[in-house]
Amino acid sequence: MATYEQQMPRRVYPLRVLGMGLGGVVVSVVLWQRQASSLEWLGMVMLCFVWPHVAYQLSRRSADPYRAEIRNLLADSAFAAALVPLMHFSLLPSVLLCTLTMVDKITTGIRGLWARSIPAMLAGGAVGTLLTGIHWSPESPMPTILACLPVMALHTISVSMVSYRLIRKVSHQNMLLDELRRVDTLTGLYGRGHWQEKAEAALRQHHAGNEPACMLMLDIDSFKQINDQHGHTLGDEVIRAVAHVVRGNVRATDCAGRYGGDEFAILLAGMGVEEAAAVAERIRAQTEAIRLRDMPALRITASIGVAAAHPRHGSLRAWMDAADTALYVAKNAGRNRVANGQHTATDPAMAISSP
Ligand code: GH3
Ligand code: MG
Repeated sequence: MATYEQQMPRRVYPLRVLGMGLGGVVVSVVLWQRQASSLEWLGMVMLCFVWPHVAYQLSRRSADPYRAEIRNLLADSAFAAALVPLMHFSLLPSVLLCTLTMVDKITTGIRGLWARSIPAMLAGGAVGTLLTGIHWSPESPMPTILACLPVMALHTISVSMVSYRLIRKVSHQNMLLDELRRVDTLTGLYGRGHWQEKAEAALRQHHAGNEPACMLMLDIDSFKQINDQHGHTLGDEVIRAVAHVVRGNVRATDCAGRYGGDEFAILLAGMGVEEAAAVAERIRAQTEAIRLRDMPALRITASIGVAAAHPRHGSLRAWMDAADTALYVAKNAGRNRVANGQHTATDPAMAISSP
C-alpha cells in the first residue's frame, strides 16, 4: 500500500490545478484590463495553467516524490510572487495570491514549510520584476475585485472544510485513545489507571463526607499452573471468564478493573463491609462454578480480600495495602476464600469465610 508520503503528489495535483487555475483567472482579468503583451499572457499561462501538470510529472517521476513535492510547493510560492510584478502590483489580487499561497503552505502541516516559502517568494518576486520591469499601478478596479471575490470565498470555504474534517477526526481519535486507556482489551473491564482514578475519588469522598466504600482485591488461585499446564490461550480464557463473573456482580455505579495479570480490583461505592463481603462471596462461589466449554474438567478458584475505606487510609496506597493484606490472609488460609480486613488492616482476627 502506498504510504502517505508516496500519495502526496496525487493528492496535491488536483488542488494545484484548481488553485493555480483560479489564480490564473484573476491574473487574466488584470492583464486584460491593461492590455498586456502576448509575451506576458504566455508567462501567465505557463505559470498558472501549464506548471501544475509539469509539477505532477516531476514529482511522479522522482525517486523521492515527497521531496519533489516540497520543491514544487516552494515553486508555487515563487510563481505566485512572480505574478505580482506581472499584475503591476495591483494591490488586491497581489495580496490575495501571496496570502493564499502562504495559507496553502501552512495547511500542509509540514513543519517550517511556510517559513521556507518566504525566501522562495522574495526570489520569485525579484525574478518577476527583472523580467517585467517595475510598473507601479496598485489600484484594483471593479472587474479585478469581482474576479478576486469567488477565489477568496472558495479558498476560505475549502480550507475551513479541511480543518473541520481534521478536527472531527482528531476528536474521534482522542475518544478512541481515551477508551483504550480506560479499558483493558482482554476483559473489557477498566484498566489499572482508570480504576485508580475512580478509587482515589471514592477515598476523597469518604474523607469528605464519611461516604462508605469498599474495595475487593481478587487474585485467581494457582493461575501459573493453569498457564503452564494448558497454555496461555486457555489462561486468557480463564481471565475472561472470571472477568465475566466480576462484571455480573457489580452495579453500574461500581468500578471493576483488571489490576494486572490475574488480579482484579473492584470498587463498591457507598457499600458497607458486610454487604461487600457478601458480593465477594458471590463472586468466589460463581468463580468456583465456572466450566469452560473447551475444558469442563478445569476447576477455577479465586481468593478475595475485602477492605472498607477508613479515615486512617491517608492515600489510595494505604487502602490498597489493607485489601492486599486481606487477600494475603485468604491465600494463606488455603485459597478459594474471602478475607475481610474489617477491623484493622493487620488485625490477626480478620474474618475469613471459606467455601
Ligand atoms: P496464587 O494462587 O498465589 O495467586 O498463585 P498464582 O500461580 O496465581 O501466582 P500469581 O498470581 O503470581 O500468577 C500470576 C501469573 O499470571 C503470572 C503470569 O505468567 C500470568 N499472567 C499475567 N498476565 C497474564 C495474561 O494476560 N494472560 C495469561 N494467560 N497469563 C498471564
Ligand atoms: Mg494468582
